[in-house]
Amino acid sequence: MTAAPETEFPLKDWVPETRTLLIGDREVEPAGETWDVYNPATEEVIATVGGASTDQVDAAVAAARAAFPAWSALSGEERSRHIHRFADVLEKAADRLLPSIVNEVGTPVSLAEYLQVKMAVDEHLRWAAEAAKTDRTVHLGEYDKPVPTMSDVVYEPVGVVAAITGYNYPLNLAIFKFGAALAAGCTVVLLPSPRTPLTTLFLGDLIREAGLPPGVMNVVIGGADVGQRLSSHPGVDRVSFTGSDGVGAKIMEQAAANLAGVTLELGGKSPNIVLPGVDVQKIAVEMHLRWSRNGGQGCAALARLLVHDSVYDEFLEAGASAFDQMVVGDPWDRATNIGPMIRPDHQNRVQGFIDGAAAEGGKKLLEVTKPLPEKGWFVNPVLLGNLPPNARAVQEEIFGPVAVILPFKDTEEAIRLANDTPFGLAANVWCDDPVEARRVAEKIRAGTVWINGGGAMRPDAPFGGYGRSGVGRELGEWGMREYLEVKHIQWRI
Ligand code: NAD
Repeated sequence: MTAAPETEFPLKDWVPETRTLLIGDREVEPAGETWDVYNPATEEVIATVGGASTDQVDAAVAAARAAFPAWSALSGEERSRHIHRFADVLEKAADRLLPSIVNEVGTPVSLAEYLQVKMAVDEHLRWAAEAAKTDRTVHLGEYDKPVPTMSDVVYEPVGVVAAITGYNYPLNLAIFKFGAALAAGCTVVLLPSPRTPLTTLFLGDLIREAGLPPGVMNVVIGGADVGQRLSSHPGVDRVSFTGSDGVGAKIMEQAAANLAGVTLELGGKSPNIVLPGVDVQKIAVEMHLRWSRNGGQGCAALARLLVHDSVYDEFLEAGASAFDQMVVGDPWDRATNIGPMIRPDHQNRVQGFIDGAAAEGGKKLLEVTKPLPEKGWFVNPVLLGNLPPNARAVQEEIFGPVAVILPFKDTEEAIRLANDTPFGLAANVWCDDPVEARRVAEKIRAGTVWINGGGAMRPDAPFGGYGRSGVGRELGEWGMREYLEVKHIQWRI
């Protein structure tokens, strides 16, 4: 392995020192329970943090409420300037955001640089800053029944947003939420995963440095109890959550107590379809290296491979070279493309899918067999085959470096298999015929369908899921609308 030169990442051991919550304009010592945060690649404790107490959650919501009238009254241009200034501060802090994320999540640096930092700030937060300026008023014009009137439809911020995120992308999942919420004129209480709280605690410093008005963005940390308090708080108008479908269902119930709206970005089991005629030699490596990135800990990992009978054997042969290129280990090594699982319980769960597949007839068709590093919660990537469509590994989100492959006889069967899970987050169709590719894409029940690999998430396009993959959408104008109320103003003429 070629380790990165020492000088390339001078701050590679850097871990945020902030342990205080941000409530209004105050950095507050946490009064709730404490826990250790680990580097999953080394198993070392890198921080001990304290969570918010119930009173501190209440204080954070109160601070967001107090800041709401002034923030929502700013012009779009003024909010845009604030958000751009915040993006400037984040850009300058990229050299510290990167090690913070790599050391607490274990994302390989080659992936983290773009996906976790640069894309999040340069593309998504900047897009939101520009979207703040949009005049969304709709002039409906005249309506003459029962008397002549004119109507406008205007959009207004919903109020206080609880933004609760999962562990796998601590910065960009937060930006997807607070970018749009701030642009819309909402104020925010941010709660990261307790497994990866450090980047968000550091964000608290950067919020102050950017000079955002106090209370517009607040940071609390904690576990399920803090999440529960926040999402059921009567002072919260909308809960925007990214995480598992099980917790998503609880959040919906908790928010229901106040009839607060929810945006839920949940898990997936995304199909990756190879239709007949496709040159599998060209695509096999890209497919395998994509579903396995971030160790498969991506909501839209295209890890359910549906491959036409006619190219199935050739696809497996071509895929062997991808598995040769998979490097599991030190996230700071530029050659590494598979990092660790976040915690030993998750490592065991993922390994359980591999070990348990045989009981349902499953076989390992491709695998990495190199010895794993002695330390770190790593799992060697595996492609499982020979499984029935109702097998656990085919139906459930694994969230690790494990893909499943199923052959199909004709395109209608591929569409049926693609839609045969409770999820519907993303999909991909490999097909040489653009008309057929489009036809198949339209039959798949998922929030994003890529054709021939598509690209990445774009800030102006919606992202979200059907079925158990979620409720509502993030990003683009569709994401903005989640944070806006709609008002009809009608006057007689
Ligand atoms: P998780 O559901 O275990 O936890 C997410 C957050 O919920 C954490 O902050 C946790 O503290 C909090 N929480 C737990 N119980 C709660 C409760 N009762 N009330 C309120 N909050 C509570 O998810 P995770 O393991 O951190 O993340 C992985 C999951 O996230 C995967 O399923 C993945 O697919 C999904 N995900 C989805 C997207 C998307 O955009 N659709 C993106 C990334 C990750």
